[in-house]
Amino acid sequence: MRSNIKLGRISGVEIGLHYSWFIIAALIVFSLGEHFRQANPNWSPAQIWISALLTGALFFVTLLLHELAHSLVAQHRGLKVTAITLFALGGVSQIQDDATDAKTEFWVAIAGPVASLIIGLSCLGIALGLRWQPSTEPHIAVTGVLVWLGYINIALAAFNMIPGFPLDGGRVLRAIIWAITKNADRSTRIAARIGQVVAFLFILDGIWQFFSGAGFGGLWIAFIGWFLMDAAKASYAEVEITAAFRGVRVSDVMARDCAMVSPRISLQDFINTYLLRAGERCFAVEDQGRLVGLITPRDVGAIPRERWDKTTVREAMRPLQELHIITPDTPVLDALKLVASNDVNQLPVVANGALQGMVSRSQLVQLLQARSELRLPAAYYPSLPRNGKEASSSA
Ligand SMILES: [Zn+2]
Repeated sequence: MRSNIKLGRISGVEIGLHYSWFIIAALIVFSLGEHFRQANPNWSPAQIWISALLTGALFFVTLLLHELAHSLVAQHRGLKVTAITLFALGGVSQIQDDATDAKTEFWVAIAGPVASLIIGLSCLGIALGLRWQPSTEPHIAVTGVLVWLGYINIALAAFNMIPGFPLDGGRVLRAIIWAITKNADRSTRIAARIGQVVAFLFILDGIWQFFSGAGFGGLWIAFIGWFLMDAAKASYAEVEITAAFRGVRVSDVMARDCAMVSPRISLQDFINTYLLRAGERCFAVEDQGRLVGLITPRDVGAIPRERWDKTTVREAMRPLQELHIITPDTPVLDALKLVASNDVNQLPVVANGALQGMVSRSQLVQLLQARSELRLPAAYYPSLPRNGKEASSSA
């Protein structure tokens, strides 16, 4: 989830909005307006809409406080937080590193719901101080706003504590399983499976309610269930990938059989001598022993066929400065993140200006498939022989 509109920074954390947030903000303000209008027929339209807008804005502030609570506790426990994004279903804090111990996971996860609960109870407390009587509709605008914010924040805390990973409650559950089993991967797997069960119950309940006449409300619950199911599945897949590649370096998996192409030959020569020859999957453009770029079938395809014999490889290639370069010591997980976040297919592995090999997206996927076909336990990875050159450069 990336934000489309940046609002500013708090404690080094970038605060942003995703476009989908506006849909939910408009829905909240309109349903609040309708709610205030029905509850207080004597209010003027200005009073109704100002209250609705103010409540909507304050709700946004309380959502932000929930996320900030996660972020500040994470920072306090030494994790790096890059951004908070508010979207249709609430907020997400982008915490860069995973918690390294169960205690950190627990406190970071529970901070948000605790913040929401404190905000909710405070709002209701102030409303009580303004002589609002529980189980009655508040009649002045200020208590109307406070009571709604109070209930919604308590509901928010309760919803987030549902034990469906990756919801806060699921993370708290994961931290507890982690503390008991002392195994981070296993705790994520168990929490993600429970998350899928919870999500499935949401979907069933939503469909049930829809057919018993709840209409849109039922569909909304089913939609949240579907979203949770997706998130739980993604968390499960992520832990599998992380476990499979933990401790593995790029030099252990990179392809070393790249063809070296001169930048001065024409594309037609490149196609005849290299591209149409079986067995070669990556093509490095090297000039006097130094990597200057990469050339792929996609780059060739971008040049019209009639210009293939007049265009050189140098003109068609992707130059070095446009490539994402990794070293043999880069962890494979970092390479995977680079591939995913930049949408590139190949990463050249370079040491001292010279190409050592190549890591490609399809190759990483094949590695994962091989592991799952062999049914290797997550922690199994042979200590692969490293060649002497890399051993001496890392020493
Ligand atoms: Zn939260």
